[in-house]
Amino acid sequence: MLRVASVAPDSIGAHLGLVRGAELVSVNARPLEDFLDWEFLTADDAFMLQARLPSGEEVEYDIERPEGMPMGVTLEPPRIRRCANHCDFCFVDGNPTGLRSNLYIRDDDYRLSFRYGNFATLTNLKPKDEARIVEYRLSPLYVSVHATDPVVRRWLLRNPEAPEIVPQLAHFAEQGICFHTQVVLIPGVNDGQQLERTLSDLSGLGDAVLSVSVVPVALTEFSKHHLVAEPTRDQCRTALGAVEQWATRAMAERRRPWVYGADDLYLQAGVPLPAASWYGDFEQRENGVGAVRYLQTRIAAAAGRYGDWAGKRIAVTTGTAMGRLMPQVLTDLAAETGARFEILALENDLFGTSVTTAGLLPGLAFQRALIDRHDLDLALLPAEAVNDDLLFTDDFDAHELAKRVPMEIRFSYDFADALADGRSGGRADDDASVLTARPADRLSAGEGA
Ligand code: SF4
Repeated sequence: MLRVASVAPDSIGAHLGLVRGAELVSVNARPLEDFLDWEFLTADDAFMLQARLPSGEEVEYDIERPEGMPMGVTLEPPRIRRCANHCDFCFVDGNPTGLRSNLYIRDDDYRLSFRYGNFATLTNLKPKDEARIVEYRLSPLYVSVHATDPVVRRWLLRNPEAPEIVPQLAHFAEQGICFHTQVVLIPGVNDGQQLERTLSDLSGLGDAVLSVSVVPVALTEFSKHHLVAEPTRDQCRTALGAVEQWATRAMAERRRPWVYGADDLYLQAGVPLPAASWYGDFEQRENGVGAVRYLQTRIAAAAGRYGDWAGKRIAVTTGTAMGRLMPQVLTDLAAETGARFEILALENDLFGTSVTTAGLLPGLAFQRALIDRHDLDLALLPAEAVNDDLLFTDDFDAHELAKRVPMEIRFSYDFADALADGRSGGRADDDASVLTARPADRLSAGEGA
């Protein structure tokens, strides 16, 4: 059963009389369990919908809808499928107290994998879930593989019940499902020969495996350092060597690299990033793969559409990982806009300084860096640092930040979204206003698998 959160005016849902709080019970007598059922079962031009209005009245609608016309119904958020694993490197387990509540959710949800590209391990699938993946053709899925050796994978996931991943993926592949996969690199566990085996096994699955990313594990001060370590520079170099070998082979066979090192892997190895063309469609950029090159292509693509920023002083706030890569990006941006950029690479004093990603920076870190900077015209903040309610990881509200700092702040994914709108810098009249390019339909969820 699903509950309606809102109904768009003049939509089919509104004409039917559906309202907030109405329960959507079934379509063509098939019970509705979640948003997937709703979207797929109502995709036909004609169907029977059974609902229960907030008054308790049971209604059945015989719906024929004009082609392409949306139902206009927004559902209440789904219950997130929780993770059944207990990885030593789990970021969620390593979270300190006092964060946004959803940052404590260990989600491992194939539905969010399909919809939003969250990585899932597929270890908690029931036969019914497997049938839905095939029936609804939930493809591509984003899968945390980590290792294909079942013993190593179960050890990594701390889950003796985890099914073998290769037969599982092969089964779905036979049904036409494809995957983007990742390996979180844990030195001494799934690197070296294990990484070779993993890449070999995934390659053996043919075209169903669309990409593989190799991402160095990131730990917080609160992680289980006695059980898991971050890779050294040499270990990152060795892993990159394996990536490049398999990528060379894939270039010959698939005409694309297929396996990619995360930007962080290159950074930690001290090896320059590949050119933008290496990353194709940047399919794993949200996983930190090709993120720098993607930014550079976005900046170049917006050429000629930037506002009047000549001579303005703009701070670019980011984590220490991206801070090291950012000069490559900002050289291009300064040439396009005429602005003067200053990189503020912030340390994460909430999770610990070993956490270098911008998305986990607390709001108070931004406040500390900006509160006395009267010389700045604008500060750009990483859009991934806030959720849909504009709350940072420490529950600090971005509107509150905007009130406290002396310059305008804008959230941005790729600079072009914040600077190519024709607006010149300057503080907004409403001192609590925050410009954000965050997609409205992005579901806030936990840290993923
Ligand atoms: S959320 Fe991911 S990292 Fe954490 S225990 Fe689950 S699978 Fe492991």
